[in-house]
Amino acid sequence: MESLFHSDDFATQRERMVRTQLEERGLSDLRVLEAMRAVPRHEFVPESLWDSAYEDHPLPIGAGQTISQPYIVAVMLQHLALQPTDRVLEVGTGSGYATALLARMCAEVYSIERHAELAESAEATLVRLGYSNVKIGVGDGSLGWAAYAPFDAILVSAATPEPPPALVAELHEGGRMVVPVGPSFSQELQLIRKVKGQAEVQVLEGCRFVPLVEGAVENDS
Ligand code: SAH
Repeated sequence: MESLFHSDDFATQRERMVRTQLEERGLSDLRVLEAMRAVPRHEFVPESLWDSAYEDHPLPIGAGQTISQPYIVAVMLQHLALQPTDRVLEVGTGSGYATALLARMCAEVYSIERHAELAESAEATLVRLGYSNVKIGVGDGSLGWAAYAPFDAILVSAATPEPPPALVAELHEGGRMVVPVGPSFSQELQLIRKVKGQAEVQVLEGCRFVPLVEGAVENDS
């Protein structure tokens, strides 16, 4: 199918998204804003949804999952205080959108997705867009990724009743993790810092994510 949209239109929509949804709500980290201006969010949603790709809400991406609202992704990234040298773990690749933002801001990104079809499609999009510092794995991200640990930062994009202990263990000393904690209907975003081997927790703001589901997809009821 031929697309009647032009990439300039998307750049304009991205600029408006950054201004009205992020800057006007107080987000100020220049590296986060630069990444959000640059990454073509529409490429990470089904083409039938391209005309709403830059709107202020999540969108369905298949397998009962969603691409997160741009604002909450920016909040999470800003609190992670990412450095260009950081090695980062992401749990819940989904569309791969936040993965692309992380790839622009950090040295290496390791991202785990439980649904193989989402992982495959995210990987294909990231390769097509030229991100070469990303490794995607299919599995239960609540168990972490021991082969590449420890990490400077961990982004958890699915809600969990408690921060998974394996992820806290895989944080570097001084490392940061942002995770939505609480029941399935609403959660609080937490920033966890590892200081002298202990997790220090700061509560950020309310949020609503799809649940972090432990175990293999085949075991879903
Ligand atoms: N950052 C993604 C968010 C996708 S929603 C985006 O913006 O597109 C959260 C994702 O977490 C879903 O794709 C879901 O399948 C995945 N997920 C849920 N539990 C998981 C687990 N235990 N391990 C890995 N991924 C998980």
